[in-house]
Amino acid sequence: MNNSKIWLSSPHMGGSEQQFVQEAFDSNWVAPLGPNVNGLEQDLEEYLGSEVHVGALSSGTAAIHLGLILLGVQAGDTVLCQSMTFSASANPILYLGATPVFIDSEEETWNICPTALEAAIVDCIAKGRKPKAIIAVHLYGVPYQIDEVRTIADKYGIPILEDSAEALGSSYKGQQCGTFGDIGVLSFNGNKIITTSGGGAIVTKSKELKDRAVFFATQSRDAAPHYQHSEIGYNYRMSNICAGIGRGQMQVLDAHVALRRKMHDFYVDLFQDIDAVKVFSTPNDDYYANYWLSAILVTPNSEKGIDREALRLAFEAANIESRPLWKPMHLQPVFENYPYYGANVAERLFENGLCLPSGSNLTDEERVRIAEVVRGFFCEK
Ligand SMILES: *Cc1c(COP(=O)(O)O)cnc(C)c1O
Repeated sequence: MNNSKIWLSSPHMGGSEQQFVQEAFDSNWVAPLGPNVNGLEQDLEEYLGSEVHVGALSSGTAAIHLGLILLGVQAGDTVLCQSMTFSASANPILYLGATPVFIDSEEETWNICPTALEAAIVDCIAKGRKPKAIIAVHLYGVPYQIDEVRTIADKYGIPILEDSAEALGSSYKGQQCGTFGDIGVLSFNGNKIITTSGGGAIVTKSKELKDRAVFFATQSRDAAPHYQHSEIGYNYRMSNICAGIGRGQMQVLDAHVALRRKMHDFYVDLFQDIDAVKVFSTPNDDYYANYWLSAILVTPNSEKGIDREALRLAFEAANIESRPLWKPMHLQPVFENYPYYGANVAERLFENGLCLPSGSNLTDEERVRIAEVVRGFFCEK
């Protein structure tokens, strides 16, 4: 039997990507601007609806960095950030010389906990350090508690930076993820739901804000015949070549979301009779997840030798990639000295959670191999 590596999430081309890239070569738009960049922005604006404006950038991290700048974050400010996330959500806070304050997850969506969030805000305000922004994340494509988080943000007048890097194609009450924050962020890295090989986008509510983001992303060049700069700039615009890949990927986004959701169904089925495993799923029908990654929680049983790490090693032995959930930021050596509010929910999720192969390009044969490892692991116990 074929024993080639099964990946967590690998690029999945739709077919027309190379055509868009070829057009870029044919017209000599081999630069960080051009028709594909404009086209991808338009495709995304149409897809997201809600009258948003999209700026294509070199990465999701760049979009978070510029998003925080647009929200007025400066050195010495406080920024609240979901602790359980990829480090790229938090790093730009430090690029700006601001201080991150990490917030726990709740059990339902694994995302920012409204109770811990409000406790942190009240405490920061009492200390005379009203937070400048809230970074909330849709982990693995499952939307955070949108209404609850928005209510708190509005109550205290703090803007939300919505990190939707994992959630293009997810929605809440019929509205697309990426459009809920005061600023939204998308990523098109190689492992994401669609890819431009590397890239990202910023989503804004006004054309002025989008133009401002693009201004910062192109070295903050003032309108002048020579190179004139009144503000610090960045080189964060997306390449027209990469944008060509993105245009092709947009044509298959919904089809690939459907395939990821089928992978989630596959795992729900597979683990149905295994009491020690719970498949991470949306709490109710208001939530629609792209299930970028399918994830499970394993209840450890030391007598039977069942825990997350033993299962991960069983997959590894079969040349199948699986990975623990994002290690919370407040537990990371680089961030451990910053404040954290919560009840260690994220910590427990991290201890027992595992992400499983979730690509839209997985084959029936690969699903059989995954199922064999799972049945073997739990039957022997
Ligand atoms: C991937 C990711 C990012 C960063 O996106 P890049 O395009 O890789 O810079 C940010 N936040 C989250 C939650 C991510 O998963």
